[in-house]
Amino acid sequence: MSFVPDQVWVERGSEHSSVVAETRARLPGARFATFADAAELGAVGFAEAKRSLVLKRHRGGFFEHCPAGTSGMVCCNYLVLNFASNCPFDCSYCFLQDYLAANNRLTAFTNPEDGLDEVDRVLAAHPEKQFRIGTGELADSLALDPVTGLSRLLVPFFAARDNAVLELKTKSDCVDELLALDPRGRVVVSWSLNPRQVIESEEYGTAPLPARLSAARRVADSGYRVGFHLDPLVEHPGWREHYEAMFDELFDTIRGDDVAWFSLGSLRMTPSLVRKVRARGAERPGRLALGAETVSGNDGKLRVWRGLRVRMYQAVLERIRAAAPAATVYLCMETPAVWEKAMREVPSDRQLGQRLAAGARW
Ligand code: SF4
Repeated sequence: MSFVPDQVWVERGSEHSSVVAETRARLPGARFATFADAAELGAVGFAEAKRSLVLKRHRGGFFEHCPAGTSGMVCCNYLVLNFASNCPFDCSYCFLQDYLAANNRLTAFTNPEDGLDEVDRVLAAHPEKQFRIGTGELADSLALDPVTGLSRLLVPFFAARDNAVLELKTKSDCVDELLALDPRGRVVVSWSLNPRQVIESEEYGTAPLPARLSAARRVADSGYRVGFHLDPLVEHPGWREHYEAMFDELFDTIRGDDVAWFSLGSLRMTPSLVRKVRARGAERPGRLALGAETVSGNDGKLRVWRGLRVRMYQAVLERIRAAAPAATVYLCMETPAVWEKAMREVPSDRQLGQRLAAGARW
């Protein structure tokens, strides 16, 4: 599967960047046009914003602490690099519907070299530290890779550094570019996974489960470690059997030793996101995402009630432990009380970050 935009908008001044040159070469039949000011592109709805691609310079910082970290939740000290904004897929529960409401155009930045310079300065200033850095926060890490070829820049950069691991997180099967590159133990490719029923109902445009797993097998055979994010776990009728069947497919394809980490996270939505999802109505119905009864947490997000979250984490954890007893497993954005119940421990943010950085190396 590969995304082909209806139109590519190139900001004036970026025409000669390597990202634009790659995109032109990879999309010979696409319509390209230039613009001087984003206001010229006009406002469009969220679904339409995902059908064209804007290529423009990023003027702020690229590199930051994961914005999901909230006080009162155990945090894994993750750092994010934003090379794109928005995503060609359209998951019903995606927080970008709210987070990018005022700036929704699918965009790839044309100066990724500046972002890597920022990273370089931080890594060089702290050679004693190990950093986990991901590009899949405001975008899918690989969905645009067949168009921009960004991984050809990122993988060699991280392969040459001793104190960082890059995580490329995706719901695509766009791994062809990665297979010819040598990660030298510094790149983890990870998939957000859900049962077939949830993917079909909620994760519009993403790769089906067998395609994600087969892509994971291909990168694992090419020297990458892989990760899996059971996040969001979506409560729905039959969830236990559906997740069980998903794990059967996962462990038929991937060995526990190939896995750097599993994360588990409950579906969480702000009231504002729920309103946005409802407002989109038939355009992107969130049948399962909006079906569960939820309660508000200290961070203002709505989740299924604590007892059910713990039950889901325990069921999933049991299945992972049976197939991959040594794998690192962590909860994303959960309270110490839920960690204690589900995982029988409450690591500090620092301990968790160090454990994950160590688990990523091989
Ligand atoms: S793949 Fe991720 S970024 Fe893209 S729509 Fe789905 S949740 Fe949002």
